[in-house]
Amino acid sequence: MAAIGQAAGRISHRLISKRLLQWQAVAGSVIPSRCLNLQEYQSKKLMEKYGVNVQRFRIVENAKDGIEKGEELMNTIANELVIKAQILAGGRGKGKFSSGLQGGVHLTTNPDDVGPIVEQMIGYKLVTKQTGKDGVLVNKVMIAEALDIERETYFAILMDRAHDGPVMVGSPEGGVDIEEVAASTPELIFKQPIDIKIGVTDEMANEMAANLDFDGEQRMQAAEQIKNLYKLFLGVDATQVEINPLGETPDGRVVCFDSKMNFDDNAEFRQKEVFAMDDQSETDSREILAQKHDLNYVRMDGNIGCLVNGAGLAMATMDIINMFGGEPANFLDVGGGVKEDQVVEAIKIITSDPQVKTILVNIFGGIVNCATIANGLITALRGIDLDIPLVVRLAGTNVDEAVKILDESGLPVISASDLDDAAQKAVAQLK
Ligand code: GDP
Ligand code: MG
Repeated sequence: MAAIGQAAGRISHRLISKRLLQWQAVAGSVIPSRCLNLQEYQSKKLMEKYGVNVQRFRIVENAKDGIEKGEELMNTIANELVIKAQILAGGRGKGKFSSGLQGGVHLTTNPDDVGPIVEQMIGYKLVTKQTGKDGVLVNKVMIAEALDIERETYFAILMDRAHDGPVMVGSPEGGVDIEEVAASTPELIFKQPIDIKIGVTDEMANEMAANLDFDGEQRMQAAEQIKNLYKLFLGVDATQVEINPLGETPDGRVVCFDSKMNFDDNAEFRQKEVFAMDDQSETDSREILAQKHDLNYVRMDGNIGCLVNGAGLAMATMDIINMFGGEPANFLDVGGGVKEDQVVEAIKIITSDPQVKTILVNIFGGIVNCATIANGLITALRGIDLDIPLVVRLAGTNVDEAVKILDESGLPVISASDLDDAAQKAVAQLK
């Protein structure tokens, strides 16, 4: 799935599974990161401002509104409508709803179809290749003027570590099967690094447009769209702008039919308008709580809850749990400057997850004072009725004091001497 991401040297969020996305979030969480994502309709509003061609659309939150807006579009500009469920994941076209409705993108020329389709989208979960098996609850639906598509291409601008800057990625074979194209015909994926000091020149834009197989007038239009997309990319501090499909209509217009954008969280201070659009309705409530307390938390699928300091140690802990046959329930890095109350919140977050069957605390005190962790654990455990085992491995700064504090607390803590011992003991508790 990540083939095109590899082609780009960086993984494109829309093209990877949720699991990989989680790991990417994990890898990025050395610095607390919110990974701002926008819905398609929000991205398209930004695109309009930068002269990027998008279809005219309305957003609705119920079937009645859908019927009204559909009729309005059909009576004014549209000959056909496209109805699109709004979720943060891609692959909607080939997705399936918990209502039984097949496909998160529907075309119709009959306004009477709009009501029943919207009815089966809103309030139901949409499962796509990128959502995981539980799918994502749909709250909003886009009703847009549909345009005929003669040809679908793929175009993206991504911030790419390997090139120390943005890279354009394009393919003349865009559309819903782009992952397949990237895997089976990688020669159809074109990459062009951008020198941030020079930007996208006319020549570069033309070359990319030619690689996307646009000819004549359309090549000029496509080049113009590519340059505008780069202006957008810079203007909003994006880390990714992905257009799939960038299509050509039978009457020769180049249009961005679908878009996906991600943003640089460090730019929040100067992108107030963009960050104000942050829609956390699809974010795990524990992750939101963790953000509030400056904890780096990502939920995973397993049952061993982890509390660790440092992203590297947190990853190593997850790996070692795996090695001994267990599965981590989460990634949680409390960070170097952790305070007692953050430890308390961390334990609350971990224990609020019913899938957690045992807890593993793994602290290597460098900056962290082990006694702070010990005191935090005690405060947390006194406040709750812990009915699952707690394995603790502490090492480093002030460890003797910390062990003493835990011993004297009388709490049922299972001590571990090192990381292997800790992981083995945690896994053994599950049996
Ligand atoms: P995704 O499946 O989540 O990537 O959603 P898209 O917005 O890309 O829609 C999926 C597919 O539906 C596109 O690749 C197009 O083939 C098709 N599609 C989307 N909008 C239109 C439209 O206005 N007209 C036509 N003819 N097809 C469309
Ligand atoms: Mg698409």
